[in-house]
Formats: sequence, C-alpha cells, structure tokens
Amino acid sequence: MSAVLGRLAAIVGGEALLTAAADLAPHITDWRKRYVGRPLAVVKPASTVEVAAIVKLCAETRTPIVPQGGNTGLVGGATPDASGRELVLSLTRLNRVRAIDLENNTLTVEAGCTLASVQAAAREAGRLFPLSLASEGSCQIGGNLASNAGGTAVLRYGNARELVLGLEVVLPDGAVWDGLRGLRKDNTGYDLKQLFIGAEGTLGIITAAVLKLFPLPVGRVTAVAAIDTPAQAVALLGLLQARCGERLVGFELFSDFALGLVLKHYPESVAPFRERHPQYALVELEDTQDARAVRSLAEASLAAAIEAGLARDVALAESEAQANALWALRENMSEAQTAEGKNIKHDVSVPVSRIAAFIAATDAALARAFPGVRMVTFGHLGDGNLHYNAAAPEGVDPEAWMQNLARVNRIVHDSVAAFGGSISAEHGLGRSKREEILRYKSAVEMDLMRKVKAAIDPLGIMNPGKVL
Ligand SMILES: Cc1cc2nc3c(=O)[nH]c(=O)nc-3n(C[C@H](O)[C@H](O)[C@H](O)COP(=O)(O)OP(=O)(O)OC[C@H]3O[C@@H](n4cnc5c(N)ncnc54)[C@H](O)[C@@H]3O)c2cc1C
Repeated sequence: MSAVLGRLAAIVGGEALLTAAADLAPHITDWRKRYVGRPLAVVKPASTVEVAAIVKLCAETRTPIVPQGGNTGLVGGATPDASGRELVLSLTRLNRVRAIDLENNTLTVEAGCTLASVQAAAREAGRLFPLSLASEGSCQIGGNLASNAGGTAVLRYGNARELVLGLEVVLPDGAVWDGLRGLRKDNTGYDLKQLFIGAEGTLGIITAAVLKLFPLPVGRVTAVAAIDTPAQAVALLGLLQARCGERLVGFELFSDFALGLVLKHYPESVAPFRERHPQYALVELEDTQDARAVRSLAEASLAAAIEAGLARDVALAESEAQANALWALRENMSEAQTAEGKNIKHDVSVPVSRIAAFIAATDAALARAFPGVRMVTFGHLGDGNLHYNAAAPEGVDPEAWMQNLARVNRIVHDSVAAFGGSISAEHGLGRSKREEILRYKSAVEMDLMRKVKAAIDPLGIMNPGKVL
C-alpha cells in the first residue's frame, strides 16, 4: 500500500477505503456509462472532520480529488480520469439530518443524504422540500447543490440554488468554512455559498447545507393538455400563470414521438387520451388550502384554455395513482430513449418567449442537414428548458448515427446561442461540455471563472478537468 493510501486508511479506517476492483466498479463510470476512469482509490469519510483531514492530506501530496454524490450526474462530472492518480471522495456516509427548525422553516442536512430522504424528513415534519428529480432515490443533496439541479418544480420554487440558506464546505486546503446560517436576510459581503453551488465540485466539498422548507400542499391536481404546437403550449402556460398564479408548480412539454417511445418501452404505461395528438403539456397545480378549490380552479382554467383554442382536450388525474402514472410518462422519457438506442442529447434553455421559434428553426435546420432525423423533444417548458434530442432516421443504426454528434451539436448549440439561450440548462458542464462552452461564453466570463478557480483552488486539486 502506498504511503498516501496508508494515511487515508488511518483517517477513515480500512473499511472505508476501497481499492479492490469490484468495490471500485460502481464509482468509476457515470450514469450513462460514457466515461470510465481508474482512480487511486475511493474513500468514504463519515464526518466533516474526516473530509477535512483527507483534503489536507491531498493538498500536501497534490492528490487530485473527485467529489462524488449519488453519481447520477449526466455530464461526467463525478467520474475520475484514467490516470490512476485521482481519489474519489464519496459523501455517502455523511447522511445525517443535523437539525430542523420549524419556526424558521429550515432543515440542516449532511451532503450525503439522498434527495428522497431529505424530502421525507421535511414531510415527516409537516413541511415541503420542493426539489424533485426523477433520480431522487439515488442522487444526494450535496450533488444536487454542486450541480444546481433543476427538476420539475422550478417554475414555482426555483433551482437548487434558490432553496439554500447556508452551506458548510471543506475548502481545497482542508479548511472548513462553516456557513451554516439560516438567514433569509444577510447582506454582509459576497454571497459565498452561491460560488460553491453549481461549481460541480471544482471549488470545494459541500459537507452540509441549511435548506428552505415550505408549507406542505394539501391539494394537488395533475393534468395533461393535448395541444398542437409548442407555441400553443407557451400561450397555455401564460393563461395558467395568469389564472392560477403560484399554484402552478410544474409545466412540462412532450411531443407525441417522445410519448410513443415511453408507450413502447414501458408496456404498462397508458396514453393520456384515446387519440394521439401532436404535443402534450403536463400541468401540476398545488394549494396549501382546500383540495377541492384547487381542483375547481384547474377545471375552470383548463376549460378556459379549450375555449380560447389553446388546448384540444384535457385529462385530469382522478387519483394519486393516476397522477403518478401521468408523471411517469414524462419521467420515463430519458430511459425510454436509451432503450430505443443511442441518440444525441441536449439540455438547453432559451427564454420562454422564444422557445417555439427555437424549436421550429432548429428542427428545420437539423432536417435540412440530416433528412429523416427524429426529434425527441420534451422538458420543463415553464423554465424554458428543453431536453432536445436527435435520434437516428428510421432504419439508420443508432451507433452509426452517433458519428454525427459534433455536427448535430454545432447546429443545435449555435441555434441556442442565436436565441439567447444556454447550452447547459440544468445538467452542468462537467467533462462533456467543458470545451463546447468556450465557443459560447465570452473570453471575459471564462477569464473570470478561471480567476475564481485559481483563487480558491490554487493547486488545482479539486475535480480537475471538469467545468474548466
Ligand atoms: C433519471 C435521471 C433524471 C434526472 N433528472 C434531472 C432533472 O430533472 N434535473 C436536473 O437538474 N438533473 C437531473 N438529473 C441529473 C442528476 O440527477 C442531477 O444532476 C443530480 O443533482 C446529481 O446528484 P448526484 O448526487 O448524483 O451527483 P453526482 O453525479 O455524484 O455529482 C455531480 C457533480 O457534483 C459534484 N459533487 C457531488 N457531490 C458533491 C459534494 N458534496 N460537494 C461538492 N461537489 C459534489 C461531482 O463532483 C460532480 O461534478 C437526472 C439524472 C437522472 C439519471
């Protein structure tokens, strides 16, 4: 055993230091299995003190660290490289709820708590923690914050960064920054926590967070509207926002082709309408008051939408099970696509007002360049965020189709830029987009990011090769 491994074992105990190939396996590849690394070891500290001691040792020995949460990220950010030098630091054992303050509506949790367990802790206390993603059973709150996760309720509650009041972070020299403040007002200089949120582990290791809690909704209505075009979906969103205000929590768009993939690969799933329609909007309304009132509001608003020609038909879930089944249609789309074969994925955002024009222009540009290309378009339309994926034309081998990756990316990302958007709406840059971003961010902005990195991590040991 090398000297570094021996000292790591002394910090965490031998059982929490993994070096055998079988133990390393779950930690060396990403969710989509696009990257496979070879780490020095995987270390699983159980406390902030242990994390700090590990990082101090790594700084002394110039050992690069890859923080890893639930390893559900989609841009290769938590995967080590193949050098055999990088240490994967898994936060899994930092999984305690440290405090709950009901009057302050805050929950203090350690970074390794799964998102589902954070939601459950809030619910048990009669509160809502609204961050919600299809990966919530596996992803960790530390990973959610490090990647500033979005999900299905951003429209109402914002991204992960809007749900945090304080952080505890182990800095790249091993110092611990205790910023676990539960303050909604604190104007005492730079808002440092926001630097670490969305930094994808390149500036430090988040070990705990103070999260905002909200009242638990009583009434929930889930509905699907059948629509003709994305432009109609945007108009429907406007109508529902005007009529329902903050009760409108989620607004998702999916195309009929995307629905077809779920129906094909999840045989237990059921289409929301007897007939098929070109597009669908999945709508979620919540209210902390009366369940019947939110249902009446939903019915009246959706009826008004049909009257105004903004929807062909609507289907309201009649039970919790039906609501979950409608959400499953949307949430199984990524996996259904994977089952169909490889495709070229994009996680992009543009201003909501430009989303319909973006889809029309980009669909047309791709069809000109690749006749027969099949677009799998779905996403969080209420946030201007689309998962805009290009699948092989009928009869073309998906493996062969992937050779077009660079050309497809260029068309899509240039179009995103032309419409004032972002080439990574919620997944981050990680390893997969760190070169691509250079084309779209100004030299001034990239230079500022590099200066921040150099100031906080001068040795460059914190998740090297990611983001920058
Ligand atoms: C089925 C599925 C659905 C998804 N849906 C969504 C969605 O709707 N919205 C969305 O935004 N994302 C979504 N994702 C992506 C992913 O789940 C999120 O990005 C999630 O927040 C990652 O959390 P994680 O714990 O798995 O992080 P990991 O994958 O382990 O790590 C992600 C990044 O954060 C860093 N990191 C992890 N923990 C820490 C820490 N404690 N301190 C510092 N850095 C850290 C890693 O180094 C890496 O760069 C989805 C993924 C899947 C598989």
